[in-house]
Amino acid sequence: MSDKSGHDAAQIGALEERHLFQNYGRRKIVLVRGQGCYVYDDQGKQYLDFISGIGVNALGHGHARVIEALCDQAGTLIHCSNLYAHPYQGPLAEKLTRLSGLDRAYFCNSGAEAIETALKIAKGYGRSKSPDKTGIVALDNSFAGRTLGAVSVTGQPKYRQPFEPLIPDVKFVDANHLAGLEAAVSDKTAAIMFEPILGEGGIMRITREFAQKAADLAQQHDALLLLDEIQCGLGRTGEYFTFQTWNDGESAAIRPDIVTLAKPLGGGMPIGAVLASDRAANVLSPGMHGSTFGGNALACRIALEVLDVLDEILPRVRETGAHFQKRLSELVDKYDFVSEVRGCGLMRGLNLTAPGKSVVPAMAEKGFLMNCTAGTVLRFLPPYIVEPEHIDQLVEALEQLFDAGPPAEA
Ligand SMILES: *Cc1c(COP(=O)(O)O)cnc(C)c1O
Repeated sequence: MSDKSGHDAAQIGALEERHLFQNYGRRKIVLVRGQGCYVYDDQGKQYLDFISGIGVNALGHGHARVIEALCDQAGTLIHCSNLYAHPYQGPLAEKLTRLSGLDRAYFCNSGAEAIETALKIAKGYGRSKSPDKTGIVALDNSFAGRTLGAVSVTGQPKYRQPFEPLIPDVKFVDANHLAGLEAAVSDKTAAIMFEPILGEGGIMRITREFAQKAADLAQQHDALLLLDEIQCGLGRTGEYFTFQTWNDGESAAIRPDIVTLAKPLGGGMPIGAVLASDRAANVLSPGMHGSTFGGNALACRIALEVLDVLDEILPRVRETGAHFQKRLSELVDKYDFVSEVRGCGLMRGLNLTAPGKSVVPAMAEKGFLMNCTAGTVLRFLPPYIVEPEHIDQLVEALEQLFDAGPPAEA
């Protein structure tokens, strides 16, 4: 038996195949337990977790302070809806706005919901200026989630085409292409939006120049600058927010109007957030938007705990992030089919000149969880508590694979 459900892995697989929507290409690994940077399957096999539930388990598994807050709050008050206040939404909003320099926060349950909220603000803001100011400018290869609004601003045809027609007036431009951005933005643009590091799009970092251009164009055309930090935000890159890594100490800081957050915020509990300047947040007056579950007591209490721990471990993310960069760079020097290390801090991509998909099961076999995105980019999103020795073990396992030559077509 693999767990308290009383089913073994084969039975779980059969039940899933028969009864679940077949919308995931799931690996046949049944994870039953986690501790720190490790997770364990039903056979007791140990894996070093270099994907952390797609960037969610920022403090790893079974973090004592998360467990304590969770158990205490579960026995006190889990949920009371947004008809009433509870003690944790206000303090969480205060903390996130202080850290980001924005004015107000809204809480929801996922990244896609945060994006939907941001899009409603953008549309509402534009329409308050002019009925035809409804345009959104987004990036090719972006990823914004799976709801219809989020898919409408996702620059990847495979996610869009089956569901067209989508929200109109969205233009996609190349990341880091200043002239393309300039040509796309006009007085009809309500918002310019992008991920400071494209996650699903292959760990592509947006340059300071591009971000500055977007901020300038947004100001010039009275559009909102919307940054999607759902994957790259909240400490993953060594700063609370990736947009803070653009500050060079000389030019004026780049200030977004809206920032979307989710993945690591709840340390595994579903919670998303939108942070906004007053002029953006004030677009939504009472009754215009809301969520039944959003920002409930349990989720907010844990998010506050996660942020408290984050205050302590942020310097460590920068150090281990630098070590990660150094060790992955050695692979670029050593193998001619490994072309580039991407990303920042503990959000890392290793780009190959060959398809990377087959590396994922081969590494799972060796006891490492990670994934592959954009076809050729090995993606690593370890917990923030990852140790340099864990990184060394990962690199050693990759070397064992790469010594046999470029990965085979999956
Ligand atoms: C994961 C992700 C989303 C969507 O979040 P969900 O919680 O899956 O809805 C949106 N934007 C980015 C950048 C993401 O990485």
